[in-house]
Amino acid sequence: MLKFEDILKIEDYKKIRKKVFNTIKKYKLIEEKDKIVLALSGGKDSSVLALLLKDYIENVLRKKVEDTLLALYIDVGVKQHKKQKKVVEEISNFYDIPLKIEEAPIKLDELVRENSITNVCRICGIQKRYLMLKTTIKEGFNTIATGHNLNDEAETFLMNVLQNNYIAARENYLVKKIGSFPKRIKPLYFISSEETGKVAIKLGLCENTKKECPYSVNSFRNLVRTFLEECIKWDKNILYKIINFQLTFLENINKISKKENKKRFSLICKKCGLPSSKEICKFCEIIEKYKSNME
Ligand code: AMP
Ligand code: ZN
Repeated sequence: MLKFEDILKIEDYKKIRKKVFNTIKKYKLIEEKDKIVLALSGGKDSSVLALLLKDYIENVLRKKVEDTLLALYIDVGVKQHKKQKKVVEEISNFYDIPLKIEEAPIKLDELVRENSITNVCRICGIQKRYLMLKTTIKEGFNTIATGHNLNDEAETFLMNVLQNNYIAARENYLVKKIGSFPKRIKPLYFISSEETGKVAIKLGLCENTKKECPYSVNSFRNLVRTFLEECIKWDKNILYKIINFQLTFLENINKISKKENKKRFSLICKKCGLPSSKEICKFCEIIEKYKSNME
């Protein structure tokens, strides 16, 4: 890993730094008073984001990282993720970023061993989102940053279109806030996977940038990703075109349906008190379903 002072001299880092700082300012992702929980998975995107946020806090906001930034790693109980957890601990120690590790209640290896289920990624995602929000509130922070990049967002948009999921498509913006709950931000929204991969290697953050979760190999997302990789060969700007279409779509749709949005987000889960689209949220629903037969 490179010393923090030396990172600022790397050309590829300077390029994405400029773009990300502009995105943060233009979309008001981070404001003066914000305290940020960074969901740090040990992958290339969130690792690069850890340094960009430290840089932004120290050099733009002129604040102390230990008061303003907290990295959060969620252990979902997958043996093959051991290396990622180690990377997270190393980044936290080397760059003085406080770290919290939370364990997901449903361990994925156990879940797969004991149930014949196919939607492992969905259960993983629901637990991660829940723990991000819960921990941020518990720690008294008000912002959750994730390392979702341009490729992730273009994939998500296409997946929603292909599955006729209008509701999910409508919510896929780079900043999202529900009532007084912490806001969720995606500062790498305009940065491609290729760009973060290059920077991560130059900064010595991860040796191998292509680490796939064993449970996501056959996912629909992977199918869409492979399709998009072919599209990029045909048109290198295709990801930007998809994301610009998404932004125009969202800006127009949100003008039309402000009232409807309010109604949808006004529900609070009866069990845990966090925002939900139904009486009981997806997290409490899966806990009820799987936790009891794993104990
Ligand atoms: P993924 O869904 O694996 O592409 O991850 C998207 C983003 O979610 C990452 O860039 C991280 O910010 C966050 N994330 C994913 N997995 C974890 C984890 N185990 N712990 C903390 N954050 C995570
Ligand atoms: Zn709940």
